[in-house]
Amino acid sequence: MPIHYRYYLVKQIREFTDERLRGYCVYCEQGVSDPTNDHVPSKSLLKKPYPPDLPTIKACRGCNEQFALDEEYFAAFLSAVISGSTKPDDQVLPSAANSFKTNEGLRDRIDQSRYIQTCLDLGIEERMVWAPEFERIQRVIIKNARGHGYYELGDINEVVGCPVSAWATMQENFDQEQVDRFFRMESGLVGWPEVGSRAMIRAIEGHDLQNGWIVVQEGVYRYKVDQGTRVRSILLEHLITEVVWDEDQSDWSGTV
Ligand SMILES: [Zn+2]
Repeated sequence: MPIHYRYYLVKQIREFTDERLRGYCVYCEQGVSDPTNDHVPSKSLLKKPYPPDLPTIKACRGCNEQFALDEEYFAAFLSAVISGSTKPDDQVLPSAANSFKTNEGLRDRIDQSRYIQTCLDLGIEERMVWAPEFERIQRVIIKNARGHGYYELGDINEVVGCPVSAWATMQENFDQEQVDRFFRMESGLVGWPEVGSRAMIRAIEGHDLQNGWIVVQEGVYRYKVDQGTRVRSILLEHLITEVVWDEDQSDWSGTV
């Protein structure tokens, strides 16, 4: 079945969890005196026209600005890998086209991360491989997972501290069984989301849900939050990510 790039209306669902949870920046865990609205995911990972009412959370200005360069790199790198090029006109993400047009340093850097790998054991003599800057990719994956978890569960305690695992891979690196498992997998916990949280409201009303996945933009970005906490996402139907905060939930990542 072809992918339809229809745009779902992601309605910002008002949640009613404890007001005291809202006075902190979920990224640095400090009190927020000068809060900014942080889009999770960042618009750089979406296509135009952007869906209305994108999920936002309050973050301190410092964190919001600090992530901007990593997010630009992440979007540009992902778009280049999927497009097979750093030419602006080839890009699948408009933010990447803009970055490659205006940021020559970034384009050079990503160009230089591409190399030819010989892999006789896969029956392929040569293939093009892109080597990401792992720390930057990981910072963005964890940032997004933290934002999704906080937005859905309404409890900063679910996503504070260092996660026990965080990884991303292109879907093409998985066999069909792994792909099926990634999308089917349910939380091992039977706990209910906090009353009044977005997760509870979605569970009751089904806002933007497709088999439990929250569709920000169809074919472009969707995510799933399990209590525990485990956050999974798939970007552009190619990059899959998982971030886990609870030891008991991390069993699967070891098999990848
Ligand atoms: Zn902060």
